[in-house]
Amino acid sequence: MTRDPSLPNLINGRSVPALAAETVEVRDPATDEVLARVPLSGAAEVAAAVEAAGTAFETWREVPAGERIQPLFRLKGLLQEHLDELARSITRENGKTLAEARGEMQRAIENVEVACGIPSLLQGEFSEDIAQGIDEYLIRQPLGVAAIICPFNFPGMIPFWFLPYALACGNAVVVKPSERCPLTMTLVVELIRQAGFPPGTVNLVHGAAAAVDALLDHPGVATISFVGSTAVARHVYARAAANGKRVQAQGGAKNPLIILPDADPAMTTRIVADSAFGNAGQRCLAGSLAVTVGEADGWFRPAIAEAAATRRVGCGLDDGVEMGPVITPQARERIEAMIQRGVDDGAGAAVDGPRRSVTGYARGYFVGPTVLSDVPAASTVATSEIFGPVLGLMRVDTVEQAIQLVNGGRYGNMACLFTRSGEAARLFRHRAQAGNIGINLGVAAPMAFFPFSGWKDSFFGTLHGQGRHAVEFFSQTKVVIERWPKGWSRTF
Ligand code: NAD
Repeated sequence: MTRDPSLPNLINGRSVPALAAETVEVRDPATDEVLARVPLSGAAEVAAAVEAAGTAFETWREVPAGERIQPLFRLKGLLQEHLDELARSITRENGKTLAEARGEMQRAIENVEVACGIPSLLQGEFSEDIAQGIDEYLIRQPLGVAAIICPFNFPGMIPFWFLPYALACGNAVVVKPSERCPLTMTLVVELIRQAGFPPGTVNLVHGAAAAVDALLDHPGVATISFVGSTAVARHVYARAAANGKRVQAQGGAKNPLIILPDADPAMTTRIVADSAFGNAGQRCLAGSLAVTVGEADGWFRPAIAEAAATRRVGCGLDDGVEMGPVITPQARERIEAMIQRGVDDGAGAAVDGPRRSVTGYARGYFVGPTVLSDVPAASTVATSEIFGPVLGLMRVDTVEQAIQLVNGGRYGNMACLFTRSGEAARLFRHRAQAGNIGINLGVAAPMAFFPFSGWKDSFFGTLHGQGRHAVEFFSQTKVVIERWPKGWSRTF
């Protein structure tokens, strides 16, 4: 991991110190130690990166798809080889456990694997004789420079929902990692360089809002892929679309988990606890509301309280730790305030987690797993994203009421159902208004060959990240109609 005072940008294959005078500290959330300083790049750095990408694109787009994927194959090998180092970097800058960080990098690698199928994924369509002597066909071509703007919570994985597909389709890329977790991508772009992508095909610009806005406004950027909070996703979508760019913007979430009385108690409790408290709740697929139907409350409430109270909280690098700290002291304060707000609004504190002290890590930003019971339906904790290890409990009488509750929320990232009933599962799958559905699963994260399908306020755009959606997003269709009258060009 770099110890340089200020992280460099990567432009045209070279590490370049940012021109920006302003930097912010990147701190280890478990220890509060300063790991690096990240420059807040602005329009000048973005312009240099976009120019390098634009120039590289002209050559890269001419490379046949079968050859474009050769560096991707090498990148997969390098990511695998460096998986431990990358996972440790994620844990240090983000706080999640090493096992979670390894899982994250595995997901990144899976996206590289899928993108390696681009020669067939990018194939066109052909219709012979749409009229006599006339053929029509569709080909897919790259768009140009693709900008990828990332959040802090999966610094190793989220860029890979987009980057391998953008490159495989023949685009060049500018990545802007989260300023709170910029270290892992700094390591990854070094591996990208080693994998043999031509200089300029992948550029990295560190920074925050000013760098994002410069990307949204730069006429040389063709596409914007964004993942972050809903407020910023909405801003990114509106501004980039107004500038004529193709945009996909994934936002926040508030994911309900519905528990029917016939669900398997032990399995459901374990899965719900992992969903709510895994990654310290800082996951767009974290279950944040557990809604019991009828008698399920009787067994679920004590079981989840026990699971929360016994979860081992600590530094993600230490053995046996099940939950790390949250990202910043400000995030901890915000989460604690939300918990207090829930109690003020009438919820009961079934398990009270705030300000968990962890031996040996007095300066870490720890919040213990928290369960709020009987959360009022209209309260802030029931309707707003908390993005911390907080699970609200609610009760309803029927599965229809539960579905109504799911569909009444503003977000639509994920909804899950726990049951042994196929009939209930089919009804839920059909009616629930969310783009990712889990049945007896608590984190319904799509595999790389499926799109990451957020709905409602969790997504702005049409085509999602990953799989075929990403291929369609990073390519534009061209339809060609050809007339070849008989006898015109026969030379034999
Ligand atoms: P964030 O919105 O604060 O930041 C995301 C990116 O936007 C960062 O690169 C940041 O530098 C930039 N940014 C921040 N403020 C900006 C502004 N005013 N103008 C322009 N750019 C700005 O999000 P975060 O805190 O890093 O990540 C957590 C959020 O991301 C949560 O809401 C979570 O649900 C969401 N998320 C969603 C998904 C999904 O798939 N839907 C996945 C992961 C995270």
